[in-house]
This record gives sequence, structure tokens and C-alpha cells, in this order.
Amino acid sequence: MNIHEYQGKEVLRQYGVKVPQGKVAFTVDEAVEAAKELGTSVVVVKAQIHAGGRGKAGGVKVAKNLDEVRTYASEILGKVLVTHQTGPEGKEVKRLLIEQGCDIKKEYYVGVVVDRATGRVVMMASEEGGTEIEEVAEHSPEKIFKEVIDPAIGLQAFQARKLAFAINIPAELVNKAVKFMVALYSAFVDKDCSIAEINPLVVTGDGDVMALDAKLNFDSNALYRHADIQALRDLAEEDEKEIEASKFDLSYIALDGNIGCMVNGAGLAMATMDIIKYYGGDPANFLDVGGGATAEKVTEAFKIILSDKNVKGIFVNIFGGIMRCDVIADGVVEAAKQVSLDRPLVVRLEGTNVDLGKKILNESGLNIVSADSMADGAQKIVALVR
Ligand code: ADP
Ligand code: MG
Repeated sequence: MNIHEYQGKEVLRQYGVKVPQGKVAFTVDEAVEAAKELGTSVVVVKAQIHAGGRGKAGGVKVAKNLDEVRTYASEILGKVLVTHQTGPEGKEVKRLLIEQGCDIKKEYYVGVVVDRATGRVVMMASEEGGTEIEEVAEHSPEKIFKEVIDPAIGLQAFQARKLAFAINIPAELVNKAVKFMVALYSAFVDKDCSIAEINPLVVTGDGDVMALDAKLNFDSNALYRHADIQALRDLAEEDEKEIEASKFDLSYIALDGNIGCMVNGAGLAMATMDIIKYYGGDPANFLDVGGGATAEKVTEAFKIILSDKNVKGIFVNIFGGIMRCDVIADGVVEAAKQVSLDRPLVVRLEGTNVDLGKKILNESGLNIVSADSMADGAQKIVALVR
């Protein structure tokens, strides 16, 4: 789960990570009020969306007086920001962060991630702050330094010091940078983050080390033990179909193709997407209805797939192990009754009660193309959506 920058900074502040003073604003008046309260000569008006690259897209503006705050706030609120992370459709700005302007001396990068290669948490740092770290990684990987963290003892001060020296933090500020990194690591672990990215971390004119941006992602499997983090969820930033799916405990990820997929089991779902690609098609979603899905769950899953305007055809690929094929068939028939099925449907069923499942579908009067194998089904649906 993702949260906004202002929320991330609030979480980090609790752990002693230094961040500028700031307030969230939902309207232009609130923005001006927040700037008044901050009382600093310079304030920054920052678009709050779940995507980076806002600066380049005009979503971060420095205001030198309250009139400028008003101007920028009205410019940015309601605007659809298109950044390299939003996709071409962009994201509408509904919240602003009104933040104390910071006298930046130099920008750095610090990030904490779970590294699959080492199976550990890794802290990365670079002198190339402010720019996208992916670009630094591509063009000058030698400028990114990493420390692998032993989970039993956590980030050690010497490791943080090594990073601080490697990225040329001024010697007199190294201790502050170390304190910053150790606090960042403890926030990461304590809140079950999957990413904590500070870009930029800055050294200020008056000798401070602080986070000017904060991107925190949380492991959704651990959210049950962080009610405070769950409360920060902003549904307006998430895909509607994904929200609907999560209500029914379905694993659904929207994609940009045109073949809707309903599959049981994450492995089979991935294999299904692969085989659709292999035959020249594009999946519209990843959907795992789970092992013990009920007909009701299948009905909801089907409705979610059909609510996607891009879907030109549906491929149901089920292996009945724990899941019975007749339950899937009942769900498909029920859903097709509730929402008119106006698009081609290919079904491949295999496993427990497969004959009964096929019988239910055959007698339903629905226009269903049945497939004998995964490959057969994938080829059929790809041909049908063409
Ligand atoms: P994004 O990464 O989405 O572009 P950032 O929060 O990193 O957004 O802001 C972009 C740039 O704007 C920063 O690299 C920094 O130079 C500047 N900036 C952001 N916040 C402040 C602030 N409080 N004071 C001064 N400059 C800021
Ligand atoms: Mg940034």
C-alpha cells in the first residue's frame, strides 16, 4: 500500500527522521491558511498524488508570499498531473502539502528496500539526489552505494557512516546523516515497509540534514498489525476495480490489455497471462479467485472483469483442485445473468467435477466457446478479440 508524501513525513517524524514543517490542504483557502500558520518567508506548494516526478510536471512550486500561495494552489488543485510514474492518463490533484521552504545546499538520495538477491533489507545512497535513481542506476551505477543490513542487529552506525562518507556528506554533518539513516531504517522495519525512498535528502544552508521528499510503501500482508497505517489509505488514488476486488478478497491487478482473465491460483494466473502474450494477445488483468472460491465470489470477479471497458473478451481458465468446476460454472452463469454478457467468452475447465461444470455451461444458453487445453483456449480468445 502506498501513502502520500505528507503522511509519510508524519510517520517518519515519529521516528526522529528530520522533515520540514508542513500541513495538508484540500482547498485553496486551506492552503493560504496553512502558509500563514507556517509563517516562513518561503513556502512550497506540493501536489499530493501517489506518484513521483511531480516537480518536473509542475506539481511543486516555490511561493514567496501568500498571493503566490493562492495562485499556485489554485493552479495545482484539480489539475491532472502527468508524470513518468502516472501513465499518460495522469492523476488529478486533490490534496496539497504546504511546506516550509528549505534552503537547499545539496540534494542526495537515500532509499531502503527489501533486496531479493540477498534476502535482506538494503540501504542505498547516492550523491545524485533529486534525479531519478533509475537513471543514475543506468548511466552511473558506480554512484550508488549499498549496505546490506543484518536483521538480527539492524543498521549499524558504522554502515551508515560508510554510506555518508561515500556520498560526500560534509564531514561536520556526517553524525546528523547517520542519525537520519538509523531512524529511517527503524521506521522501515517497525512499520513493515517494502520501500522507503528519500529523494532528495538535503543538506541545508544552516547545517541540517532532512528529508524533502518521502515515498513509503507498505507490505499489504502486514497491514493487519498497523491500523494507523491502514487509516492513511486514500482510495481515490487506487483503481476502482482493485478496491472492489479487495472487498471480496480477490487478488486482482488491472493491466492495459483487452483480454479479461479469470483464473484460480496465482501460478496458473501468471501462466495464463504468459500464454495469452505468447499467442499475440494482451491480458486486461491478473485475477486469482483463490482456491476455495464460492459461486458468489466468482460472480463478483466476473462483474469486475466486465466493468472494464477495455475488455473485448474473457478467458476463464480453471483447474479444479480444491475449487470445483461446477462452482465456477455456477458463478459464471449467475454473473452472465446479472450483467448482460456481450463479449466472447472462452472457458477451459479441468479437474474436479469437470463434466458437471461443462454440463452447466452447455445448458446455460450462454454463448460460450469451450477449450480443451490452455493453449487451445488462449489461441481461441486471442482470435476472438481480433
Ligand atoms: P518529486 O520527486 O515528485 O518531483 P519532490 O518532493 O522530490 O517531488 O520535489 C521536487 C524538487 O522540489 C526537490 O528535488 C526539491 O529541489 C524541491 N523541493 C521540494 N520540497 C521543497 C521544500 N520544502 N523547499 C524547497 N525546495 C523543495
Ligand atoms: Mg522526489
